[in-house]
Amino acid sequence: MQKQYFDVIIIGGGLAGLCSAIHLSKHDLKVLLIEKNSYPKHKVCGEYISNEVLPYLNYLGFNPFDFGAKRISKFELTTHNNKKIEANLPLGGFGMSRYEMDFQLYQLALKYGVSVEQDTVVDVAFKNDEFQVETKSNTIFTSKIAIGAFGKRSNLDVKFKRDFIRKKSPYLGVKIHVSGNFPEDKVALHNFKGGYCGVSKVENNHINLCYITSYDAFKKHKDIESFQGEVVFKNSALKHIFQHTDTVFENPLTISQISFETKNPVENHILMCGDSAGMIHPLCGNGMGMAIRSAKIVSDGIVEFLNEDTKSRSQLEISYTKTWRKTFAFRLKIGHAIAYLFRQDWLAPKLLVLLRVFPFLVPQIIRMTHGKLMKMP
Ligand SMILES: Cc1cc2nc3c(=O)[nH]c(=O)nc-3n(C[C@H](O)[C@H](O)[C@H](O)COP(=O)(O)OP(=O)(O)OC[C@H]3O[C@@H](n4cnc5c(N)ncnc54)[C@H](O)[C@@H]3O)c2cc1C
Repeated sequence: MQKQYFDVIIIGGGLAGLCSAIHLSKHDLKVLLIEKNSYPKHKVCGEYISNEVLPYLNYLGFNPFDFGAKRISKFELTTHNNKKIEANLPLGGFGMSRYEMDFQLYQLALKYGVSVEQDTVVDVAFKNDEFQVETKSNTIFTSKIAIGAFGKRSNLDVKFKRDFIRKKSPYLGVKIHVSGNFPEDKVALHNFKGGYCGVSKVENNHINLCYITSYDAFKKHKDIESFQGEVVFKNSALKHIFQHTDTVFENPLTISQISFETKNPVENHILMCGDSAGMIHPLCGNGMGMAIRSAKIVSDGIVEFLNEDTKSRSQLEISYTKTWRKTFAFRLKIGHAIAYLFRQDWLAPKLLVLLRVFPFLVPQIIRMTHGKLMKMP
């Protein structure tokens, strides 16, 4: 067992972890990022990212359009019984695969001098005002600050006995990339009974098809193929896309036990960032925006705490929790309410009629689930 000391250890190298790592290294802090998987890797995700975070990504030195990201400005929604509305997105966004985006941010983190370990963190102890982070390979790393950026569900949530992990999480996600025709500038949300599927293009012209559904809807069917045939394809837009494109993945990627329960932004003195702090319903297409924005909030707080020495640890934790809640609580609430309403199969078509009569409501609802464009100095 060896010991190495860092200013900050970040557990998890998704978007929240990578952005915080780059931000903190830009401020000359000694940063270790521990990620259990190697890069690049596909993840179950809709891969539509709100422009809200573009100024911050640019500040970190990352321009998604240098890597072929697609600019997205149009939105389409269909219900399970094939009613449709279209709207312009108030802020817009871009389409980029997690395979490419996480990999490019990882490269950037290395360039900025972030130490990266491929290992799984199995325990974190806080003793004598410092963290001891233990990995599966039996190494212990020590730091002044620890960021938890380990995503929506991790072995560490079980280890820390976090409240949400004891509750049932009845959702699963499926994703494939396909090739074929789909407008570059559009993100579509096609609903089916028990779920919805996001459709948008990514950097290499592939189309990302990613759906989320409940176990209740899925369990009556024997496998993904029969579920799609009997439920998903009742939405004619989805049937058309699935049947007129060629799959790029050998098999669909799947995840289960997706939870939208409330979490605490600080646990055991670890500052939680991204999905580890709270997850918005994917229907809103803003989880990545929140992960990236929370990386800025946590990093600003840490830089102030470590460099200016004017705050105690408990002040840092209180102010992070406060800012996190102020920034995200409202959109989380609205996001969950919208997802709930669209899950009511009898109500969704009626809501759509209402939105058709009052189309100005669509951008307003989208605005409520997103933040304003981040302002950088
Ligand atoms: C079906 C679905 C569709 C979605 N669609 C969209 C969308 O279109 N737009 C959008 O903005 N958001 C979307 N989201 C949400 C988005 O994917 C997440 O909000 C985002 O990935 C959060 O980033 P993160 O860095 O917090 O977590 P992650 O990207 O999950 O990263 C966490 C990392 O931690 C690592 N890790 C976990 N435990 C350990 C450990 N013990 N030790 C070391 N490493 C560990 C994991 O390997 C992982 O790489 C979707 C989510 C789902 C489920």
